[in-house]
Amino acid sequence: MSKELELEINRLKKLNLLFEESNKVAKIGVWEVDVINHQLFWSKTTKLIHGVPNDYIPSLSAALNFYKPGKSSQLIKEAVEQAIQKFQPYDIEVELLRKDGSTCWVRAKGSPEVHNGQCVRLFGTFQDIQEQKEKEFELIDKELKMAAIFNNNIDALFLTNPIDGSILKANKAASEMFGYTEAEFQQIGRNGIIDLTDSKISSILKERVQEKQITTDLIGIKKDGTKFPIRVSSGIFMDSQGHAQASTCIIDMTEIVHYQKQVSETARKFKGIFDSAFQFIGFLTPDGVLTEANNSAIEFAGLKPADVIGKKFWDCHWWTISDKTQNELKASIEKAAKGEFIQYEVEILGANNKTTTILFNLKPLFNEKNEVYSIIPEGRLIQDIVDTRKELISKNNELASFATIVSHDLKEPLRMVSQFLAKLEQKYSGALDDKARLYIYYAVDGAKRMSKMIDELLNFSRISEKDKTFESIRVDRLIDDILQGFKQIIEENNIKIEIGVLPEVLAIRTAFKILLTNLIGNAIKYRKKDGLPVIKINCHEETNDWLFTIQDNGIGMEKEHHEKIFQLFSRLHTRTEYEGTGIGLATCKKIVELHYGKIWVDSTLEKGSTFFFTIKKNINV
Ligand code: ADP
Repeated sequence: MSKELELEINRLKKLNLLFEESNKVAKIGVWEVDVINHQLFWSKTTKLIHGVPNDYIPSLSAALNFYKPGKSSQLIKEAVEQAIQKFQPYDIEVELLRKDGSTCWVRAKGSPEVHNGQCVRLFGTFQDIQEQKEKEFELIDKELKMAAIFNNNIDALFLTNPIDGSILKANKAASEMFGYTEAEFQQIGRNGIIDLTDSKISSILKERVQEKQITTDLIGIKKDGTKFPIRVSSGIFMDSQGHAQASTCIIDMTEIVHYQKQVSETARKFKGIFDSAFQFIGFLTPDGVLTEANNSAIEFAGLKPADVIGKKFWDCHWWTISDKTQNELKASIEKAAKGEFIQYEVEILGANNKTTTILFNLKPLFNEKNEVYSIIPEGRLIQDIVDTRKELISKNNELASFATIVSHDLKEPLRMVSQFLAKLEQKYSGALDDKARLYIYYAVDGAKRMSKMIDELLNFSRISEKDKTFESIRVDRLIDDILQGFKQIIEENNIKIEIGVLPEVLAIRTAFKILLTNLIGNAIKYRKKDGLPVIKINCHEETNDWLFTIQDNGIGMEKEHHEKIFQLFSRLHTRTEYEGTGIGLATCKKIVELHYGKIWVDSTLEKGSTFFFTIKKNINV
């Protein structure tokens, strides 16, 4: 062999090697079929793609079995047949079934070589496109997911061209919201669904270009022309080809706007009530900072909101009347912050340092964790009530001392009348006829009744706010003591007394004794002439009070009398039927009220009566 030929062969070998190498990198294998002699040639890369070793010798029939049964196998057979018979080249994507059973996507290309109207040779390439295919599938997958998200979103979504405002895509929710089909949206574009009279639109579009993202409230227009409030969020992004696109989400705000209107309407009404309320009202943080106060409170002190809002409440003008007042408020706020409801009467400072008494309370507000998150301070002007009360107390005191003096003064001449009548009876009884003795008897009886009345009136007038000394009293012992006084009448009339469990209470001893004595005395007095009298005395504990009941099965009374019997001198019977003065129940009412309670009766004529009264359990003595 000549040197040149040798060199040329080496060059060709190198070139072939280079070709093989580059094919290997591109994963392209070469093949060739001698149709006449039924011989097949596979390049190294072709063998690699088929997953067979280098020394594998492929046969024509075996080669066709390297395709996944079904679509791929069918496709390649048809393509080869067409190439041989109709001389048509092919370029298809099929799935190979490799030696080890794994699959791999390939691009199979084949071209026929025709001689004298017959295909003599078929040659072509295999390219491993598995990676490419995977990416393609992944992309399809992503696109499907995106489409699902896009189509099924409950908000209206649009894909638009930010430059001309044309709508490229719109989802189902968008169609439902505006009433257009996707094709219609594409025709009318962005401008067809938004109220363009809104002056801020151009600035919003500019802002979107600068910021790439905007959210704004606009007015949308439906296909039927209805205008409705919408919230638009829109962003600009670049697609894979570098074209700007806008994705826009639209929410129908009709309901939200309606709800917001309602909320602000309620807030407006609340503010109206808050500011125009006669009483002083506000809000405090649990540590005592005033966050809000109504006009009444601020104007009363002749201040401006800035003078008090944000300050500790006790440092505000109203409370600066004295250190004591400030300290009391501070301590009360601390208690309210722990959940206690506080109420007390206090003198505060108004405009021009004028003092006024208010009924003040602190009401804690709790969150769902039962913690105090705010306190409502509230004050009512009660100066009038305080003045009237003072006046009433002084009038009552005057009346009481008047009653005491008058009763004392009346008692003395009454005693004289009784004494001398008795003397008249003793000394001149022989000289008096029956008529005269009867007159003396009536006179003595009248004097006795008058004396009793004076005693009861004295009792009534002595019960006053003045000497309210509360002490602990065992009610069972007190009842025993009272019943001792009625021993004789109880025994003589066979009266059954049933006593329940009775507590120890805080009460004014003498007054409380008069109260129970009067009620038990009445239950005994107003018994029925026939039948067995039964009196039941009980007590029930309530949240803030003790509730006492004195029940009898006596003569009872009609409903129309239930209230008036508590008035002074009110009686339902004549003196001849039942002895009495009509002062007893009025005294009971006064006593119960001294104990911050109430008294009432439930009674049925001929069946009996139950007297109820309450007294406050916790009296700050
Ligand atoms: P009195 O001195 O007349 O008993 P009270 O003030 O104690 O005066 O009672 C007023 C009136 O109420 C009595 O006159 C009587 O008609 C009626 N009353 C009081 N207690 C009873 C009772 N337990 N049963 C029926 N009536 C009663």
